[in-house]
Amino acid sequence: MANFSGRLGRLIEGLRRLPGVGPKSAQRIAFHLLDRDRSGAEFLENALAEALAGVGRCPSCRMFCEDDRCAYCSEARRATGQICVLEGPSDLIAIENGTSYRGRYFVLMGRLSPLDGIGPEQLGLPELQRQLTQGGVEELIIATNPTVEGEATAYYLAEMARAAGVKVSRIAHGVPMGGELEYVDGGTLAHALSGRRPI
Ligand SMILES: [Zn+2]
Repeated sequence: MANFSGRLGRLIEGLRRLPGVGPKSAQRIAFHLLDRDRSGAEFLENALAEALAGVGRCPSCRMFCEDDRCAYCSEARRATGQICVLEGPSDLIAIENGTSYRGRYFVLMGRLSPLDGIGPEQLGLPELQRQLTQGGVEELIIATNPTVEGEATAYYLAEMARAAGVKVSRIAHGVPMGGELEYVDGGTLAHALSGRRPI
């Protein structure tokens, strides 16, 4: 792979910071922007600068937002008494678009990972604790991922909710809709079986 220096090199280096973009893709994107789509590159430049300057975090749920508070923290949503805790903004969008849930959210922007220096503080848990103890929250729905760290985070959150006297639940993980049992891996199947519920 050719090594570019100077401005082109810096552009490629910048593009490589994007998730899922390797050296080859970064080079291809840089050439495309400079050769074929300069107006697109300018649009991207402006959009990025504006987003960096104008998009912050909601102080209440940590979701990205442009105003003092995000739309997911409205009074109507507060009235449901539910807070759904998620690892990232994409998880919020997935729940919002894919389900009928219309309560509030709390976006951790990560998961507990002591080895990487990510503890309760980094995930904003003192703010969640404040919300749980100040009243008005009836249920904490934990929707962290079913990974080792996601499960450890769920355990920690559950303890926090119990200590605050708030009902706590964990989203079910298991067999996908339309899936067939024989093709589901053992870990998922075990999880689904242990999480069974009466019908
Ligand atoms: Zn919010």
